[in-house]
Amino acid sequence: MRPTIDTYRHQGLRKKLVDSLRTKGINDEAVLTALGAVPRHFFLDSAFDEIAYEDRAFPIGQGQTISHPYTVAYQTQLLGAGRFLKVLEVGTGSAYQAVVLARLGAQVYTIERQKTLFDGNRGFTWLQEQPGIKFFYGDGFAGLPTYAPFDRILITAAAPSVPDKLLEQLRPGGWMVVPVGESEVQQMKKIVRLTEGGFAEEVYDSFSFVPMLSGKKAD
Ligand code: SAH
Repeated sequence: MRPTIDTYRHQGLRKKLVDSLRTKGINDEAVLTALGAVPRHFFLDSAFDEIAYEDRAFPIGQGQTISHPYTVAYQTQLLGAGRFLKVLEVGTGSAYQAVVLARLGAQVYTIERQKTLFDGNRGFTWLQEQPGIKFFYGDGFAGLPTYAPFDRILITAAAPSVPDKLLEQLRPGGWMVVPVGESEVQQMKKIVRLTEGGFAEEVYDSFSFVPMLSGKKAD
C-alpha cells in the first residue's frame, strides 16, 4: 500500500535528509528545496515508511529501484533543470525524479519501458495530479522524436554508451546527463550539444545504476 499522508515527522526526516545532502556537496538551493518538498515515502510501499528518508536506494518492483536521494540530487544539479525547460527523462521508475524535476518548474516528458511500472504510476492518483509531467510507455533508446527537441535529457539507468538517437533530440545549446558504462559502476557524463555544431563531453563521478535495456517489456 502507498502512504498518502505527509506528517510533520516525515517533513522533519526530509529536512535532515536535505541537510545531509548539503554536507555531501549538493549546493544548488533550488534542487535542495525541491527535494525538501517532495514526499519520497509516497513513492515507496508503506513497509519502507520508517526508512524512506535514508540516503538509500529501495526496490520499487520489477527488479527496479528508486535511486538514492544523493543520486537524484546530483543528476538534477548537473541537469540544471529550471523553469520552463523541456526535459526528457528516460526511466520513470517510481516517478520520484520526475516529480522533483516538475517541482523545479520543468515540463517533464518521462518514458518507462516496463508496462507494470508505467501502469502502477497511472493508478497513483496523487502523482497524476502533479502538474507538468507527461508519462510515456516506450523504449528510451528511441526517445520521443515527436516531442523533440528537448532542452535537457536525463537518463536514470546505466547506458552502455551515449544513445545516438537521443543526441539528435537535444536542442543545440542543451545537454544530456547520463551514467555510461557496462560494468557495475558507471561514469556520470554531461554531453552538451554545441550551438556551433558537434558535442562536448564532461565526465563526473562514479555511480551504480540498474541497466538501461532496449525494447519494451509488456508484463
Ligand atoms: N528515475 C527513477 C529511477 C528508476 S531506475 C526513479 O526516480 O524512481 C531505472 C528505470 O529505468 C527502471 O524503471 C527501468 O525499467 C527503466 N529503464 C531501463 N531501460 C529503459 C529504457 N530503454 N527505456 C525506458 N526506461 C528504461
